[in-house]
This record gives sequence, structure tokens and C-alpha cells, in this order.
Amino acid sequence: DAIVRLSKLTLSYGKTIAVPDLDLDIMEGELIALLGPSGCGKTTTMRAIAGLLTPTSGTVEINGRDVTRIAANKRGIGLVFQSYALFPHLSAFENVAFGLRLKRMPEAEIKSRTDAGIATVGLSGFEARKPAEMSGGQQQRLALARSLVMEPKVLLLDEPLSNLDARLRLEMRTELQRVQKETGVTMVFVTHDQAEALALADRIVLMKDGKIEQLGTPSELYAEP
Ligand code: ADP
Ligand code: ADP
Repeated sequence: DAIVRLSKLTLSYGKTIAVPDLDLDIMEGELIALLGPSGCGKTTTMRAIAGLLTPTSGTVEINGRDVTRIAANKRGIGLVFQSYALFPHLSAFENVAFGLRLKRMPEAEIKSRTDAGIATVGLSGFEARKPAEMSGGQQQRLALARSLVMEPKVLLLDEPLSNLDARLRLEMRTELQRVQKETGVTMVFVTHDQAEALALADRIVLMKDGKIEQLGTPSELYAEP
């Protein structure tokens, strides 16, 4: 079933139409990539899925409900940005626990969920470190754990690997895939890197000028002739 449905979605900044008339179904549990060059409308589309940008026309539905009509804390959408936006003064543990504390969850549950989230991304043992004492890949994992513990239905990742060096980027591809299969969370990620989309995604949405140029599995899109 479609967990996210974009119907005749048009997104503008003033008079600039960034995304005209987009239709797309994102299926529950899939890892889908929005691929295309800078300026093709990937980030704008993500912001609309998150409900951060109100459509000029058309709709974004999460499980059949218009996202702009759902309270921000009830949308079930997690965001991971390329700049990880970790809290520098907090430990890894407290960074991950932060959102759970805002929900006023009992301390024992905060502890168990935070520990589980940290373990999922392979950071057990790093709980006491500050972000500055961790590598780029570890910080990226931490940002992922912080989103995962909120148990989102859909996780949106904007160029999640672009700040990493080449070796870490390869390592984190596998890691992202593993976490997605393990948790079953629907993941939508933006990239301009074709190799990354091919390696990671169940399906690829190839965008150009705000429109879908091609849509399919990596082998459907890039089959050898
Ligand atoms: P990316 O290409 O990595 O998605 P950009 O560098 O295009 O990011 O954009 C960074 C920020 O600048 C975003 O918040 C975006 O909304 C904003 N932005 C992008 N293009 C424009 C523009 N033409 N005018 C004003 N703001 C813009
Ligand atoms: P991508 O993420 O694929 O790089 P964006 O969604 O950031 O593309 O941008 C799509 C188009 O919308 C571009 O033409 C960009 O210049 C424009 N744009 C993005 N953000 C803004 C903004 N805040 N104000 C004006 N134009 C913007």
C-alpha cells in the first residue's frame, strides 16, 4: 500500500514553480531515491512530504490523510539532514534521547529505546562521547539513531552521505540499507549521485525540472541493453 501519496502536487516559491504537477506513490517499507541534478526539485519535494511547505496545488497524503491537516508531532515523519544538526554540548546518548524526553516518556523507557537505537546504528560503547569526538560516519549514524528512536513511519534523508569521505560513504550505504531492512521503516532519500541511488534504492525516481523523467527499480532504469 502507498504510505505517501503525492497527487497533482505543485510547489512554488513566489512566481517560481519548482515542482509542477507531480504524482508519486511511495510504498510502505520501501527505500526510494529521488535522484537528479541540483535544482531539479528534490529538496522542495521532501519539504512538502514533511509538511514543511504548503502545496500551491495538489496534495501530500500520509496514510490517506492530508499532511498539512495533521499536527506536526503526529505526522510520523522523521528528518535527517546532510548537516547532522546534532547538539554539540550533549553526549551521544542525550542526543538520541532528546526527542523522547520532549515526549515526557518514563526514564526507563527512554533508556531502553535510546540503547536500542544506538545499538541499531552500531554505536554501542559511544554513548558518553560528544559529537565533536566522533567521526563523520559516526555522527551520521547518531543523527540516524536520533530519528529512528522516534519510530517514524517515514524517514526523509536529504543527501545523507554527501558530507562523508569516499570510503565512509560506501560503508554507510550498506549501513543505511541494513538499518532500513532491520527496522522496516519507509525511507525516502535525496541524492544527486547515480551510483549511490543504484546501490541503495529499491526504486529510483529520476527527476528533471521538477518532473519525473523515469521511475523504476535500478535494473529497470539502468539495465544493460
Ligand atoms: P541543495 O541543492 O543541496 O538542495 P541548495 O544549495 O539548492 O540546496 O539550497 C540551500 C537552501 O537555499 C535551501 O533552503 C533552499 O530552499 C534555498 N534556495 C535554493 N535555491 C534558492 C533560490 N533560488 N532562492 C532562494 N533560496 C533558495
Ligand atoms: P534540489 O534539491 O534538487 O537541488 P530544490 O528543490 O532545492 O532542488 O530547488 C528546486 C528549484 O526551486 C530550483 O530552481 C531552486 O532555485 C528553487 N528554489 C528552492 N528553494 C527556493 C527558495 N527558498 N526560494 C526560491 N526558489 C527556491
